[in-house]
Amino acid sequence: MDDQGCPRCKTTKYRNPSLKLMVNVCGHTLCENCVEMLFVRGAGNCVQCNTPLRKNNFRVQLFEDPTVDKEVEIRKKVMKIYNKRECDFQSLREYNDYLEQVEDIVYNLTNNVEVESTKLRMEQYQRENKDVIQRNKAKLTREQEELEELLLLEQQSSEQRRLDVLQEEQRQLQAKRKNKQALLDELVRNRHIANSYLSRKNGRRTCHLLTCSTIEEALYHYKPLQVETYGPSVPELEQLGRFGYLNHVRTALPQDTAGGYTSALACYRAIQDAFSGLFPPKF
Ligand SMILES: [Zn+2]
Ligand SMILES: [Zn+2]
Repeated sequence: MDDQGCPRCKTTKYRNPSLKLMVNVCGHTLCENCVEMLFVRGAGNCVQCNTPLRKNNFRVQLFEDPTVDKEVEIRKKVMKIYNKRECDFQSLREYNDYLEQVEDIVYNLTNNVEVESTKLRMEQYQRENKDVIQRNKAKLTREQEELEELLLLEQQSSEQRRLDVLQEEQRQLQAKRKNKQALLDELVRNRHIANSYLSRKNGRRTCHLLTCSTIEEALYHYKPLQVETYGPSVPELEQLGRFGYLNHVRTALPQDTAGGYTSALACYRAIQDAFSGLFPPKF
């Protein structure tokens, strides 16, 4: 690419990366500046092959090889006339022969082979196939319109999908915000309760840090369980070993003690059971 340049002013893409190369129907390259300068009157001859050229036929060179640009332009023109399709032929063989003819014409015009006779051939074909060309052109336009309509519909439905997704996101965001606000309101309300409770308790002192809502509830106080056994008093857990009660129960295995179990505990409960109601209550 780097050695691509204008044959007239010798500027290259290497020296000037913004260099815009143009190509005309003869397939010869000129830079944009040279085109402006040489074709200031709108028409002139090619510097290289002397072909008469129009300024508005210059196109930006898309391919490294300018003859490819030339071929693309020529092919476009030829296909406007040779627009038959496979269904216009009786057999595949005929269709293939036709395609070969088209290629010959494109090749000739691109490479300056028998240009005059090729052009005459094209004109003759155009005259003879006027109706088919016109019909196929209309068909092509119709197909293009249908395709565009289809594309438009697809675009609309994808736009609708995009809007739906957007709406759903918005909805979720709002719900989230609402939840957050509710939570904040709840916190503020609880803080008021806590504060009023504390100011009642501590006179004028208020504590703004407390936000816990359970502060008004009575705190839990542990009271040891008093079991009435209606029998003789049961020895305490600590005394069981000393009194020899533990000699009569199986010692806890290591896997038994994992959850905090001791053999004394089991023994203690058994004794509680045994002692309860041992003597009838005195009235
Ligand atoms: Zn130039
Ligand atoms: Zn030329």
